[in-house]
Amino acid sequence: ITDVRESMYLVSEFAKTYFHDTLFNSEEGKAIGYSYFKERGFTNETINKFSLGYSPESWDAFTKEALGKGYKLEFLESTGLTIPRDDRPFDRFKGRVMFPIESMSGRVLGFGGRILTNDKKAAKYLNSPESEIYHKSKVLYGIFQAKQSIAKLNNCYLVEGYTDVIQFNQSGIENVVSSSGTALTPDQIRLINRLTKNITVLFDGDAAGLRASIRGIDLILEEGMNVKVCTFPDGEDPDSFAKKTSYDDLVLYLENNAKDFIQFKASLLMNEAKNDPIKKADLIRDMVVSISKIPDRIQREIYIQECSRIMDISEQVLQSTLAQLVQKDV
Ligand code: ATP
Ligand code: MN
Ligand code: MN
Ligand code: MN
Repeated sequence: ITDVRESMYLVSEFAKTYFHDTLFNSEEGKAIGYSYFKERGFTNETINKFSLGYSPESWDAFTKEALGKGYKLEFLESTGLTIPRDDRPFDRFKGRVMFPIESMSGRVLGFGGRILTNDKKAAKYLNSPESEIYHKSKVLYGIFQAKQSIAKLNNCYLVEGYTDVIQFNQSGIENVVSSSGTALTPDQIRLINRLTKNITVLFDGDAAGLRASIRGIDLILEEGMNVKVCTFPDGEDPDSFAKKTSYDDLVLYLENNAKDFIQFKASLLMNEAKNDPIKKADLIRDMVVSISKIPDRIQREIYIQECSRIMDISEQVLQSTLAQLVQKDV
């Protein structure tokens, strides 16, 4: 079984190099893929850092090249790079710009591929299927490039998309990884936990991003980690925001807008239901649920105090609510 996995890694590494070379060296790659990345403002340095690539708009250009180099169809298919068909197997990612997804140690596990048109009917991103080497719930895009910076700065920015990671890197912020659109999982959080206890969630400034941030908070707290949330103006994501902001202003924005989860949830109330007692009560209960996820008793105590202060409600009431939620804890 290790042989199978090894073969899958090798063919994935080959694909990364093929797509990257195609971006720079083929007429089609330059005209379509490279100019797409240029339009998004990515420099050559950035394109190289993330080994971005282009998969030609052809039935099987990549598959043929790989077979010609001696890679076996079996592994082209089990990695999902090639889609099986009796007569003529074809390239999964044809006509897309390519984002290799790497492990903590830099091994290629899979790919994301983005369409270039704004055809709303086609899926914007296509990902490698689950395989022996690619488990989407266990990977974080950008972790290989980010790991040193995360450890050094003792904080990790968590974003939704590939391009958010890339644009932040280009802006000079390297401690950033992406859950790539999937709901955040405990395995992904544990990957970060090996490097730092501190996560700042930077999801898109839209309703979906807000919901995902709220869901992420409790999972991160459950792992015994510290979570902050920084939101972006409506319609912006970290990529679009960073692209039009200088490094200094970006850092300032992140510093000024990162809130701990109590402040973040309190600010949701300000926006929605300032004087609605029922909504306020719901939100306070929700905060206590989040607090109950924290394994450390002293930290829970500190957040109860903060919640009491910010929401103007007695600590006693919060304590008894909390007690119901953490009976197991002595
Ligand atoms: P872009 O800036 O290129 O339009 P984005 O990263 O802002 O992309 P979002 O719509 O915010 O795209 O989605 C965030 C992430 O979710 C993407 O980077 C991608 O990993 C994943 N994703 C988005 N759409 C799809 C899809 N149709 N299928 C699979 N994954 C997707
Ligand atoms: Mn989004
Ligand atoms: Mn986005
Ligand atoms: Mn975007």
